[in-house]
Amino acid sequence: MADHVAIIGNGVAGFGAARRLRREAPDLTISLFSDEAHPFYLRSRLKDYLAGDIGHYEMILESRNLYRREGLNLFLQTPVAALDVAHRELVLAAGDRVRYDHLLLAMGCRPSGLPIPGATAAGVFGLRTLDDAEAIRRWMAGRRRAVVLGESMVSLHLAEGLARLGVEVDHLLMGEHFWPEVLTPDASNLVAEIMQRQNIRIRRRVTVEEILKRNGSVCAVRLSGGDVIDCDMVGHGCSFRPCTDLLRDTPVTCDGGVLVNDRLQTAVAGVFAAGDCASFGPDDPATAFYSRRQDAFVQGETAAANILGRNERLTGLARHVRTDLFGLAVAALGQSNASDEDPAVTTVASGHGTTYRRLVFKNDILVGAILAGDVEHAAILGRHIRRGGSRDQLEAGLMAALAEDRPRLEHALHAPCPICTDTVTVPAGTLIGSRFVCRSCSAKLRLIYADGRPAVAPQDDV
Ligand SMILES: Cc1cc2nc3c(=O)[nH]c(=O)nc-3n(C[C@H](O)[C@H](O)[C@H](O)COP(=O)(O)OP(=O)(O)OC[C@H]3O[C@@H](n4cnc5c(N)ncnc54)[C@H](O)[C@@H]3O)c2cc1C
Repeated sequence: MADHVAIIGNGVAGFGAARRLRREAPDLTISLFSDEAHPFYLRSRLKDYLAGDIGHYEMILESRNLYRREGLNLFLQTPVAALDVAHRELVLAAGDRVRYDHLLLAMGCRPSGLPIPGATAAGVFGLRTLDDAEAIRRWMAGRRRAVVLGESMVSLHLAEGLARLGVEVDHLLMGEHFWPEVLTPDASNLVAEIMQRQNIRIRRRVTVEEILKRNGSVCAVRLSGGDVIDCDMVGHGCSFRPCTDLLRDTPVTCDGGVLVNDRLQTAVAGVFAAGDCASFGPDDPATAFYSRRQDAFVQGETAAANILGRNERLTGLARHVRTDLFGLAVAALGQSNASDEDPAVTTVASGHGTTYRRLVFKNDILVGAILAGDVEHAAILGRHIRRGGSRDQLEAGLMAALAEDRPRLEHALHAPCPICTDTVTVPAGTLIGSRFVCRSCSAKLRLIYADGRPAVAPQDDV
């Protein structure tokens, strides 16, 4: 058994792996190296932090105490600069060397920068870390207008956080739709409608030619047609790339991400990779698609099992993502946006108000789904997709449930949040079962029927 497992990266994959290692191997020495300054937190909550709805304390879910309690050595602000595979050593940026028996690469990915003139001006930000969110908040204090670039989920989170902070937002897309690697045009349009209701101006098919600055700081963007949009900041969530720089000049093979097999093993014995920095090769449809918290967690846990010699395989790359966009719960599973122009593909789609569903079958096997507004059946659908469930099997149970017209709230509900007791307002027309977040304490809540009347309850599957 390994004596010292080193993990580079303290995100979902690295932290999840460390906890499984500890659960199953109490005597192992486990060290996590992170270039960030904070213990584990969820990046999906950065928009709430940016909006000012939660503070530093609520962001850091797992305080240093947990690392101490579980005997995990956490090295914050400790970037790893290189790898000496021959001697099984990490080379820290500070110059120290650390020996390992097994190594997990869980470095995630980061934006590669905007290829636009003026992109180095003060006031240009990406959103990836808690420090980014903090820097944006500080920058926008006393400033009013922001331009957000990009169609990705991260760009949407950034636009939402800024809008909730009270900033006027122009969201610019080079293409037509949001998050096209996951959403269909209909689902994207639903998100766009909600954004517009929150006063975000959306411009499609535009190219930013230059970020203009005054005294070194952003003052506007110039579009290819000549239009100029005044702004105090430019934000983006574009061009995320796996962090693999430290693997240069090593035998660890990369094809964009770190190449792994279904046991998360790299080309080098004793070295594993998991999460957003891992790649499963050119045949993996998810290779060009980062930002999958659930997949990162499962991969981290599977890598941990294999470090312990369990020979566990990753069964079915899920490519599942759940998020919340402007209060709309979204779950996209598998080949969610597969085109029905493919003769092997059939789809069943429906949409009412702020709910949307799409099931994708390939040769009558469920291969993907999008649920928006009401994501209650996401877990069951996810299991069907992983098992390659047929349409008949699905029809036996779930299709009826999906088609069921669940009741909606007749009148707006004003009820106390079961966590913080502040009043929560749920608009009329909301589907019973819908999930949302308390604006005061960010608790994840659900609209239910209890004792014959609508009520607000905590979500059980945070
Ligand atoms: C704003 C935002 C919102 C998101 N919302 C959602 C969501 O709602 N749903 C969802 O499924 N996914 C979401 N994601 C994506 C999700 O956060 C990622 O899929 C997940 O964090 C990947 O986990 P990871 O452990 O692979 O990498 P990361 O969480 O990126 O962690 C990797 C860590 O390693 C560190 N690191 C990198 N190189 C080094 C080095 N050389 N030395 C030391 N440390 C290093 C990085 O700084 C980072 O801290 C969101 C992402 C962002 C940015």
